[in-house]
Amino acid sequence: MTWDFKTIIEPFRIKSVEAIPILTRPEREVALKTAAYNLFKLPAAAVTIDLLTDSGTGAMSSAQWAALMRGDESYAGSNSYFALQTVVERLTGFTNVFPCHQGRAAERILSRTVIKPGQIILNNTHFDTTRANFEAVGAVAIDLPVGSGGDFAGDMDLDALDAALAEDAARAVPLVAMVMVTVTNNAVGGQPVSMTNLRAVRERCDAANVPFFLDAARFAENAWFIKQRDPGYGDRDLESIVREMFSYADGFTMSAKKDGIVNIGGLLAVKDPDWHQQMKNELILTEGFPTYGGLAGRDLEALAVGLLEALDEDYLHYRTRTIAYFAERLQAVGVPVVMPPGGHAVYIDAHLLLPHLAADTFPGISLINALYLEGGVRAVELGSLMFPGSPRELVRLAMPRRVYTQAHVDYVIEVAERVVTRASTLPGYQITRAPAALRHFSADLAPI
Ligand SMILES: *Cc1c(COP(=O)(O)O)cnc(C)c1O
Repeated sequence: MTWDFKTIIEPFRIKSVEAIPILTRPEREVALKTAAYNLFKLPAAAVTIDLLTDSGTGAMSSAQWAALMRGDESYAGSNSYFALQTVVERLTGFTNVFPCHQGRAAERILSRTVIKPGQIILNNTHFDTTRANFEAVGAVAIDLPVGSGGDFAGDMDLDALDAALAEDAARAVPLVAMVMVTVTNNAVGGQPVSMTNLRAVRERCDAANVPFFLDAARFAENAWFIKQRDPGYGDRDLESIVREMFSYADGFTMSAKKDGIVNIGGLLAVKDPDWHQQMKNELILTEGFPTYGGLAGRDLEALAVGLLEALDEDYLHYRTRTIAYFAERLQAVGVPVVMPPGGHAVYIDAHLLLPHLAADTFPGISLINALYLEGGVRAVELGSLMFPGSPRELVRLAMPRRVYTQAHVDYVIEVAERVVTRASTLPGYQITRAPAALRHFSADLAPI
């Protein structure tokens, strides 16, 4: 990294543009009412800046679009599979690689092959689909986050891991099926995991004879934080950091919709040949032949390119700096932001901003709806509506990869600043109709 200017520029120029919808306030009022005050039910055509998620929303590069044309749609043994396999092996050292249609498909196959009912999985923090897939096969998913700030707030709590493994060793029949580490730790705000922590988890897994898997959705952002913050890694190139991260694992799942910078896709890999064979059988049931795994040949090509582009240092510098800038500026205009920000999103503490709203009137919903009405910005609530009984009322502004410019970020900050000035007048919300499960996706709401 030789950049020594104060201004961090987007390290790309724009070849193809997509117009974004710009609505009047009355139009947004109608759209929000029609969506029953639930932003998940808004058509994208009513959203100006969409920060709902960084998953599958990234912009492909001209090299990726060109790679699509190389897509080999052979049913078996497609050239595109080997292109992808070569890149994945170079980055991870894993030779046995399965494409999947997205991360949760890899999780489902892993659950069906490696985990038995009643077994336990220990994770720094399970992502929600990961937990759901493990629980769906009757397993118990336990989170062991360090639960504190610092440079590597995504780490696994090693004392808690030691205790859990010791407890397991004392059982007549051990129950821990595997240890998993999620990089970066999405559920705690995209906070990174240190190399020291990965190495320590490996040592413990060796001692306990338990397999170690990575949930590698944000492997590139995690590697960047290791390079910036982990002593001894500042001069290492990112590829070698990534290889070391994966070298500690017996297998991994990956949602390629994050650091793969593709709109759909996932990966699953294991070293153990028996598991590999079982996974192959399971994969054929739902994803397709093992060399395409639910994706088109062209998708495999775009992913092979995207995985490498995600490790471009100028790109990662710009991405992490954009998110840090976003968080710092929001804080400066009076928005209570969780600091330090992680790798893919900024989190606002809606309870601190709207202390007049009780948890059962959904302060996070009040804030995201206000951001939408003010400027057409779509964020997501991670509070009492999504997680009933949640101790926190957070709002997440996730950054799609390579999609928005600094002017877009400055605009969102201005929108948030206007909302802050009216914070004490924002209404709470009530649920007027809710489904039995996953109510945040489809509940109807109304201002109180
Ligand atoms: C997105 C994500 C998943 C699930 O992947 P999908 O592609 O959405 O199915 C799993 N783990 C983590 C950490 C994720 O961020």
